Amino acid sequence: MALDTTHRSLLAACSLPLLAIALQGCSNDVDEDAEEEPGTSQAQELASAVSCAERAETAYKAGSPRDIRVITIGGKLVSKTTGHAFLKMQRAADAAGVHLAINSGFRTMSEQRYFYNCYVTRSCNSGNIAARPGYSNHQSGTALDLTTSSWLSNNAGRFGFRRTVPSEPWHYEYEGSDPGGPCGGGGAATGPGTSDEDTRCNSQTLGKMVPEKTCVESKFDGEWYQCKGGVWMSGGGSGTGPVGACLTRHPL
Ligand SMILES: [Zn+2]
Repeated sequence: MALDTTHRSLLAACSLPLLAIALQGCSNDVDEDAEEEPGTSQAQELASAVSCAERAETAYKAGSPRDIRVITIGGKLVSKTTGHAFLKMQRAADAAGVHLAINSGFRTMSEQRYFYNCYVTRSCNSGNIAARPGYSNHQSGTALDLTTSSWLSNNAGRFGFRRTVPSEPWHYEYEGSDPGGPCGGGGAATGPGTSDEDTRCNSQTLGKMVPEKTCVESKFDGEWYQCKGGVWMSGGGSGTGPVGACLTRHPL
């Protein structure tokens, strides 16, 4: 998507330290999602497949570092806090027949350095616009680029997500605390969406809702997933998944 010239010149201004001070907040209202075209929605087993193989990362907001924990959802690296909040929203969307997926989540400093260098030198990544390292919205751990829908724009606020870049309807940020989720920690059962006791998962491979601990070999990627608390976790091919023995197994 083309960034208009106002944004482009604003970002150029932001890369000059003195002007950046004068233009308060310019790093917040300019995103550099140009290199990440919002993709088509994934099948739900993939879009919600969670890997809790957690690790520490350094997030940056307006140049200031802070420590976060990251997990993987739908193959995308996300902060655990934001990821758990997303999973609650995704479950509610799923119940409404809307499939949410993450197109872009947390970006590491080394990734941002790469993109920024490409932007400055015009020698890679099509020279697409990129924020200074430490100033990308996607280094904060709070930003997600999501598949858009009217359901999302009408309901994201209930789950603590809000749009922060007017020109980018797919860009949402979550500033709340960890509502808890499949990777543990956080506020356990106190977050938004937890009144929903349904622990079943929506399998698009089987075309139906299945109970917790069900293991399914996905027709979309041939990988095994096990249902846990409403989300799909990687594993289950051996008959045992991250939640223990498979309740039932559904090979392709
Ligand atoms: Zn974004």
